[in-house]
Amino acid sequence: MTASVRAVFLDRDDTIIQNSGDLGDPDEVRLIADAAAAIKQLQEAGYRIIVITNQGGVARGKYSEDDVDAVNQRIAHLITEESGALIDRFYYCPFHPNGSVTQYACEHPWRKPQPGMLLQAADDLDLDLAQCWMVGDQERDIEAGIAAGCRTVLVRTGQPEQAGVTKADLLVATLTEAASAITGGGEGPPETDRNDVDSHTPGSDDTTVEAAGPDDQVITRLTDLHTELRAMRAAGSEFTAGRLLTMIALILVLGLAVGCALYMEPQSAVVWVVVAGVGELALIGLVLLLGRQR
Ligand SMILES: [Mg+2]
Repeated sequence: MTASVRAVFLDRDDTIIQNSGDLGDPDEVRLIADAAAAIKQLQEAGYRIIVITNQGGVARGKYSEDDVDAVNQRIAHLITEESGALIDRFYYCPFHPNGSVTQYACEHPWRKPQPGMLLQAADDLDLDLAQCWMVGDQERDIEAGIAAGCRTVLVRTGQPEQAGVTKADLLVATLTEAASAITGGGEGPPETDRNDVDSHTPGSDDTTVEAAGPDDQVITRLTDLHTELRAMRAAGSEFTAGRLLTMIALILVLGLAVGCALYMEPQSAVVWVVVAGVGELALIGLVLLLGRQR
């Protein structure tokens, strides 16, 4: 079943707090103006709030992991105190290839622009990355978000002069503007609204034929297919012959389902659409399996 939990990944330094250097002292934490209110807005819109931050200062011996934890706890406290919002989780990467502390002096899949922290969070919290956003002030934040399959927002809080080329979906001045855009009050309303199509409340009776007609099932299959295609594109996956054939089969089965829904008697159509749906799920599973074997 497709995960439906969505989140906003937030870079920490110069996105939530002011920090142009190495920060290991919680007493020096200063929230960026209105950051707490923006986070509250995102949380109230149903997004998990996850902070994703490179902390190469640990590898350079500037401060310890305990210091990072203390700073993060201070940030969480200040945000809650100011707006009532809660940070769901912090993820940080203490590694850096040019570090001076041996145990941290290496490259690591968690280090942005690699997407390791986002992927770990998705695994931990059952997130649907296609429904998530990555917000940060550096292009490496954007690249990490894209690599994970998220939509992205570049905020200019860290580098106000930065208005040049970016791979981000949106470029805004502040976290407040980012929150408004993500929650639908600005440019590029999230396609997450379509998530409503695929949602079932625990109490809903979706096992009966009447509760989910042929058209609904076709829409659901289309949504699953769209989600898978987004994930494949975001992962930069290669179109191997096996994946190509599987995708062609997916489209053919989908066409069969649509044809049945449109041209057959309703009772017969339901049977064929259900068969097509099972086939679609099996093929999507095969696509995912082939993707993981890369
Ligand atoms: Mg930053």
